[in-house]
Amino acid sequence: MTWETVIGLEVHVQLATRSKMFCGCSAAFGGPSNTNVCPVCLGLPGALPVANLEAVRLATRAALGLEFTVHPKSFFARKNYFYPDLPKGYQISQFDRPLATNGRLLIKSPDRGDVTIGMARLHLEEDAGKSVHDLIPGRSAVDFNRSGVPLAEIVSDPDLRSPPEARAYLVALKQLLQYLDVSDCSMEEGHLRVDANLSVRPQGDPALGIKQEVKNMNSFAAVERALEQLRDCQIRLLEGNGSVELTTFSAATGELRVMRTKEESHDYRYFPEPDLPPLTLADAWIDAEGKALPELPAAKRARLQEEYGIRPYDAEVLSATRDVADYFEAVIAAGGEPQSATNWVMGAVLRDAKESNGALRVHPHRLAVLMDMVATSVLSNQAAKRVFAELTSTTEQPEDVAERLGLLQVSDAGQISAWIDSVLESRPAEVARFRNGETKLIEFFIGKVMQESEGKADPKRVKEILSDKLEAMK
Ligand SMILES: [Zn+2]
Repeated sequence: MTWETVIGLEVHVQLATRSKMFCGCSAAFGGPSNTNVCPVCLGLPGALPVANLEAVRLATRAALGLEFTVHPKSFFARKNYFYPDLPKGYQISQFDRPLATNGRLLIKSPDRGDVTIGMARLHLEEDAGKSVHDLIPGRSAVDFNRSGVPLAEIVSDPDLRSPPEARAYLVALKQLLQYLDVSDCSMEEGHLRVDANLSVRPQGDPALGIKQEVKNMNSFAAVERALEQLRDCQIRLLEGNGSVELTTFSAATGELRVMRTKEESHDYRYFPEPDLPPLTLADAWIDAEGKALPELPAAKRARLQEEYGIRPYDAEVLSATRDVADYFEAVIAAGGEPQSATNWVMGAVLRDAKESNGALRVHPHRLAVLMDMVATSVLSNQAAKRVFAELTSTTEQPEDVAERLGLLQVSDAGQISAWIDSVLESRPAEVARFRNGETKLIEFFIGKVMQESEGKADPKRVKEILSDKLEAMK
């Protein structure tokens, strides 16, 4: 039997606010334990939450960028459960009236090409604290610094059809959220967390199979791997006439481990949060947020191709982040020719960025000057690469670096003639062979002249002058 895989993803994104969702405590990552806390986020009796407008704004921006319908009125709800890192005994979230519903994201699926993935909802909620199990032997500790940090939860429809496609969705979603400046999406700091659910069904069957969930994956590769394991395991079970059971797994150790047989949402006893009024957004405010969105990845890719005549793949690489795309366009604005700017940015610039933690260290203007030196034969391509490498660690201008390293190309006819004469005089045998018709020896002579000039001769000029001289000798 052929099985179809059905995957849905829930992504929790930490919104890039300075303070927490319902109090003024810092939302910064990494402070000493239990220092960013107050009665509200510790859940002390009588403390009252107040919604963070910036968190609402960032969630709205994310929703608009993902083409959700943003609702002018949404409600906060209490999600009740007991856990040591949840001091109130409930998490403030949104339930039946979320901030936004019905979004979508265009992704490049490795299996199906361009596909649009539907998104059921985007809602606001607060994070829980963090249990620490390896600090005190035999005991667990709790750090409440994360308690109350604002999150947007983005729930996809079960539209994904394979683990690699799920990964492609996550890559596209992360890119979009970074474009929108709503989150740094750092997975190391837990600012982007993924819960995945998967079921399989006979190909063509409209009914969904029983789904299983997996949590605690710390990279997109880990998500893909866990989903592959889950899929293979379900197919093996079903083909052996077994049945799949509603289960939640943890992939924290790389192996799937059962966390619990899944609770249904009624186990959480959701009810409206009595301490917070409905979240009411003016239509004009939502419209203004929509108008303030930056150019998004798909639009940028299309425009770069259209405006600069570059290939689709190149446009994709150059628009991977807003910083790189802006850099590329700044090089062109500074006078760089688009195709040459494409080659430089995709080559030397991105290589350097990889080595310097993403920093684009050579100012676009300096790169444009360097490119111009190549275009006007002042520098060879090879020499320009060496100058670029120097520019990453100095504030010198390209001309000065080229001069300091003795890389400036010589195109002076007198100087080049002298080098050529010296080569021809010392190679009478090869000259004779050339005169007897071995014309391909011209490349040999060019090589020798370049050597003679220590790489400084402009090879184009060398070829011209050399051809004339050899022609005259025939
Ligand atoms: Zn607080």
